[in-house]
Amino acid sequence: MPTSTTTEEQKLEQKPEVEQVEIWKCKEAECKAWVRKEFVTEALPNCPLCKNPMIRSYRHVPITAKKGNKKFLMGKRRF
Ligand SMILES: [Zn+2]
Repeated sequence: MPTSTTTEEQKLEQKPEVEQVEIWKCKEAECKAWVRKEFVTEALPNCPLCKNPMIRSYRHVPITAKKGNKKFLMGKRRF
């Protein structure tokens, strides 16, 4: 099994506001569908849009979700 992920990782820019997550993305180049790997339970998911097979990849996403989570917890403690 060839591993091409290392070269992919080296190309990544190192910005503090984003994190790298594992995703499944659609095999079709013209199809923009992708989903976080943690949300997928199937071993080999199919694209929800065009039904083509999906492939493992990586994607940069902003870490704003975690910040929002913190804010929420602080809001709950207000009493
Ligand atoms: Zn697709």
